[in-house]
Amino acid sequence: MDPEESDEAESVRGEPERCGAGGARAAWAGFLRARAAELRGALFPPLCWLCRTRPTVDGLGCSDHALEPCRFDPSEPRCSGCAGRLAAGLGSGLCADCRRRSRGYLRLCAVGAYRQPSALREWILAFKHGGRRELATPLAALLASAWSGSTGASPGVVLVSVPLHPLRRFERGYDQARLLCDELARELDFPHVPALRRTRWTPPQGAPGASSRRANVQGAFALVGRRARHLAGRALLLVDDVVTSGATVRACAEVLRGARPTEVSVLCLARAERSGEASAAESKDERDPAEP
Ligand SMILES: [Zn+2]
Ligand SMILES: [Zn+2]
Repeated sequence: MDPEESDEAESVRGEPERCGAGGARAAWAGFLRARAAELRGALFPPLCWLCRTRPTVDGLGCSDHALEPCRFDPSEPRCSGCAGRLAAGLGSGLCADCRRRSRGYLRLCAVGAYRQPSALREWILAFKHGGRRELATPLAALLASAWSGSTGASPGVVLVSVPLHPLRRFERGYDQARLLCDELARELDFPHVPALRRTRWTPPQGAPGASSRRANVQGAFALVGRRARHLAGRALLLVDDVVTSGATVRACAEVLRGARPTEVSVLCLARAERSGEASAAESKDERDPAEP
């Protein structure tokens, strides 16, 4: 046999052996890593993001703070416009309120209801008023799954956060809706354009009446001129933590329409139910959770 041919034959013959040995080693290493991860998980289970003392039951919260049970029941009929509960017998479509008047946005998607007691409310209050800015990560994951579950693939969407007044942001140290949007942008691979600003300080919405809320936020938002051009011809997703009367997101949507988007929808963690739950929640909070 030609020596060169012999060398080549040797190398060809040898290759599978090296691959086989290497593959077995890799498989064995993978097996050990997986068992080590299982053992680590059994000895040191991941702790609840909220209380940081008890193991999670749903990957985010412990048995007291699990978020899965806070999601809207998909079998419960809800308005396709505002996510409000539909009257019995109405399987789908718009609620009477949405049929009667324009909301200013195409539709609202919420993870669950803002009610107490509820784990979702505890998470939101800790995130918003408890200085727990790191909760933006799990809460944004929750928002992402709610949005993806409601729409499927929705390419070309731009995220816009409901802004805080600069003084309130300074007081809190962060803008919670903006943090949520930053995390959501990573989750969904959508751009986040902080294209709205507050033009004036709005006092906490003490009175629960819808008309006073509307008046409170009237003219309180404006486009950030240099960023507005990124919104033209795009589908916008306005993001906030809680929506109660809807006055704030309606005022924001109205301003956003001036940037000529194709549509504006709203995504929030929790939506107050109309049957008095909104006012009940607010009256027990020192501050209106829906307000920045
Ligand atoms: Zn917990
Ligand atoms: Zn509705």
